[in-house]
Amino acid sequence: MPELPEVEVSRLGLAPELTGRFMTGAITRTSRLRYPLPERLGQKLQGGRLAAIRRRGKYLLFDLDHLPNGKTASLILHLGMSGSLRIVSPDIAPQPHDHVDIVFGDKVLRLRDPRRFGALLWHDDDAPLENHPLLAVLGIEPLEAGFDGAWLHKHLHKRTGPIKPVLMDSHLVVGIGNIYAAESLFMSGISPLRTANRISATRCDRLAESVRQTLSSAVAAGGSSVRDYVHSDGGAGCFQLQCAVYEREGAPCVKCGKPIRRIRQAGRSTFYCPHCQK
Ligand SMILES: [Zn+2]
Repeated sequence: MPELPEVEVSRLGLAPELTGRFMTGAITRTSRLRYPLPERLGQKLQGGRLAAIRRRGKYLLFDLDHLPNGKTASLILHLGMSGSLRIVSPDIAPQPHDHVDIVFGDKVLRLRDPRRFGALLWHDDDAPLENHPLLAVLGIEPLEAGFDGAWLHKHLHKRTGPIKPVLMDSHLVVGIGNIYAAESLFMSGISPLRTANRISATRCDRLAESVRQTLSSAVAAGGSSVRDYVHSDGGAGCFQLQCAVYEREGAPCVKCGKPIRRIRQAGRSTFYCPHCQK
């Protein structure tokens, strides 16, 4: 599944190519992904301009203006389990799972989604975008100002469960998937089993910093390889990161040499070093 860094890399790859460009149409080759696709998408956006591409959690937000109805709107896009976006020339024939094209004259933004768990939704700006039901439930952005040790310490106060599933709760903080939770906890020396509200302010500082560092290096690693092809296959390993603990069960810890352990937490695998993480 594409994680926050992959979605951010997609955004960084698409933005310079498409921002400010006018849309000449759209082609939909299915009626729905996870939700029904917007009806008459081509008509709605024809002649409009893509003003900006933003990200909220794992959603890409395409802000549209100069639309035929004289209003502004947004497209909300989620890559689901297997979605990917690429920019192609209009003469490239679509493949079986290429469900949507948004056409910008001589460039096409093409959405491929074999498992169809992705989403593409139209949002009229009559209501604030951040109040959209899919977005309103999202927690703080870990790469933006405001997310730090003090914030974390304050918000872990009432959390009595183990830290790792809490860290992965997108209602609290978005985008800390399984890999990034494991790596951040290792980097900060905190056991995934430690009760969330029993982590000191100092250790929360270290944890928040580790989360930011882990996600930023994943974005940087992906960003360096992105040009006109924007790729998100997700799931497979560490997204070009050198993982210290993730999927390294039994391998020697990079700090102490003792074996990495694998346990189950909230239905997910957790990898950690019992010697280095307390
Ligand atoms: Zn260790």
